Amino acid sequence: MDESTAQLKTRARELGADLVGVADLDLLREIECEPSDLLEPFRYALSLGVKIPNAVFEQLPGRPTPLYAQTYLAANAFLDQLALRICSHIEQAGFNALPIPASQPLDMKEFRSHLSAKAVANAAGLGWQGKSLLIVTPEYGPRVRFVTVLTDMPLEADQPLENRCGSCTCCTDACVAGAIRNVSTDFHYASREEALDFQKCATKLVTEFATMENIGKPICGICIKVCPWGRKLKKPASSTPG
Ligand code: SF4
Ligand code: SF4
Repeated sequence: MDESTAQLKTRARELGADLVGVADLDLLREIECEPSDLLEPFRYALSLGVKIPNAVFEQLPGRPTPLYAQTYLAANAFLDQLALRICSHIEQAGFNALPIPASQPLDMKEFRSHLSAKAVANAAGLGWQGKSLLIVTPEYGPRVRFVTVLTDMPLEADQPLENRCGSCTCCTDACVAGAIRNVSTDFHYASREEALDFQKCATKLVTEFATMENIGKPICGICIKVCPWGRKLKKPASSTPG
């Protein structure tokens, strides 16, 4: 790894990132962005991940809880702060950097944002896109939230990981909306509909979970909870641990 990339990753870890990767934006030029020319001035995207504590998921009773909702907010706020600090570091080195908020849906019907943090984390080699559409990391499974920083700083990009879902059906079996189709992909799905009946998932989250007392947002957590890669001792037997 070149020195400036190593220094940037070390700085991100010092500031509290649990996972750090660099995506070559050439892998993402076709992706939907808002505005559509968002990526043009930049060459790389830094993906920063923070792990959500295991106990938050282990206590989910088949629906989100106020504790999960609050931890979700705290993780997003922390990631946004982290992205700001990394942007300062990059600007001090003489380059441009643009933070993309960790969770700022621009469209509450389709859940689109400026740029998918999951797609960037996938391209940055931090995890593969699981059958649930979540990014599954070898270290923490899908129990991670991500933020993105776009930059023109010359960096060394990481390589995407191979998909390791194998024959696992844990998220398909546990989905509270029956939305996951149990379809595998090598890199990423052509569309989210290929993996998920998105309307089934969104309807459950928006009309049921978001209206629950002290939740107030469309979150769920069940497909995150059940993924064996987040439960260290119970990885799928057919997969190769990373
Ligand atoms: S978030 Fe909930 S409803 Fe949506 S796919 Fe995951 S388990 Fe199913
Ligand atoms: S639960 Fe299994 S199939 Fe679903 S994302 Fe995790 S490893 Fe992949």
